[in-house]
Amino acid sequence: MGEQRFRAAQAMKWIYGDYQLDFHQFTNFSKDLRQKMADHFDTTVPELISEHVSNDGTIKWLLKMDSDNAIETVYIPEKNRGTLCVSSQVGCSLNCTFCATGAQGFNRHLSTAEIIAQVWVAAKQLNHGTKNRRITNVVMMGMGEPLANYDRVLPALNIMRDDHGFGFANKRVTVSTSGLVPQIRQLNKDADVSLAVSLHAPNDALREQLVPLNKKYNIDSLLSACREFVAGKKKARITFEYTVIGGVNDGAQQAHDLTRLLRDIPCKINLIPFNPFPGTRFQSPNAKKVDQFKEICMAAGYICTVRKTRGDDIAAACGQLAGEFMDRTRRSAMYGADTSKRPLEVR
Ligand code: SAH
Ligand code: SF4
Repeated sequence: MGEQRFRAAQAMKWIYGDYQLDFHQFTNFSKDLRQKMADHFDTTVPELISEHVSNDGTIKWLLKMDSDNAIETVYIPEKNRGTLCVSSQVGCSLNCTFCATGAQGFNRHLSTAEIIAQVWVAAKQLNHGTKNRRITNVVMMGMGEPLANYDRVLPALNIMRDDHGFGFANKRVTVSTSGLVPQIRQLNKDADVSLAVSLHAPNDALREQLVPLNKKYNIDSLLSACREFVAGKKKARITFEYTVIGGVNDGAQQAHDLTRLLRDIPCKINLIPFNPFPGTRFQSPNAKKVDQFKEICMAAGYICTVRKTRGDDIAAACGQLAGEFMDRTRRSAMYGADTSKRPLEVR
C-alpha cells in the first residue's frame, strides 16, 4: 500500500508474535494506517470445531475452512520436540490405495492463509491455554499432497521459516510428497526445507498398486529428483517414508531390494506401520516383520526408524485423517470403497 518496508515486519510481529489479529490494536501504527489495514485485509482465522486429546498426548484439531469443508491438524508431543502435522488440501486427488484421505477424494486446495493459520491456531491453543507446550517442527504430512498445491504451500513455508513469522529452522520444516517430480525440482530452487518422500515399495510394479502417481513418475525419475535435491547441501538427507502393509510390502526380499535401490542417496528410512481405517482392504503388519525390515535396513548401513503410532485412539494417526467435507467428486459413490478402481487425476 506504499508504506515503508518496516511496517510489514511490525505487522507480522503483531500477528505471529503477539497473536493480535485486530488491526485497531496495532499501537505502533497511526490511526489512519490501522483503518487502512482493516479496510484492505482480513485476519479471520478458521473456526475451531473440536479438539481431541489422545491418551498419548497427541492433539487433533478439526478446523472449519468454509461451510462445506473442515480439515485436521495434529500436534505430536515428544520428549524433546513437538511436531505439528499440517494439511495442505481438503482431501487428496492422488488416490493412494492405503490412505484414508485419498479414499475421501479431493475437494479443494487450501489457501496460503488456511495453511499458515493451522500453525497459528495450534500455537495459540498450546501456549495460551493451560498446556504450555511448544511446536519445534512442522511437517506437511496432514491431509493432502502439498506439492499438488505448490503455489499456495510455498508462501506458507516461507512464513513458517521467516524470523518475523514463526522462525522455524529450515531443516525443521518438512514437505512430504508422494512423488510429484517436477515440483520436487521446483521446491529445490525455491525453498531450503527438508524433504520426505513416500516411497512404500522397492519396485515400480508394486508401487503402482499403492501409489497410482507412480504410473506418471516412476521410481527412477523420482530418485533422480531426490539425488538433485540433496546434491551440494551439507548434511542434507531425504527421508524415505515406507508404510509397511501386512503381507503386501513387508517381506525380507523387499527390504533388501529397498537397501539396494537407495544405495547412492544420502537418506534415512522411516517405516510407518500401516494404520487401518474404515473400509480399507489392507492390514497392519506383524510387529516382527517390521522389526525384521528395520534390521535389514540397518545392517545395510541406513538410519532406519519405526514411526510410533500416535493418536490412533482419536483417528489422528498417519493416513487416518479424513476431515469433514462434501465429496463433490462423489468418487466414493461412483467407485465404491476399492480406491484402486478410481481414475487418477492430479489437480
Ligand atoms: N501426501 C503426502 C503427505 C501426507 S501423508 C504424502 O503422501 O507424502 C503422510 C504419510 O502418511 C505418507 O507417507 C503416507 O503415505 C502415509 N500414510 C498414508 N496412509 C497411511 C496409513 N493408512 N497408514 C500409515 N501411513 C499412511
Ligand atoms: Fe494423498 Fe498422500 Fe494420502 Fe497419497 S498418501 S492419497 S498423496 S495424502
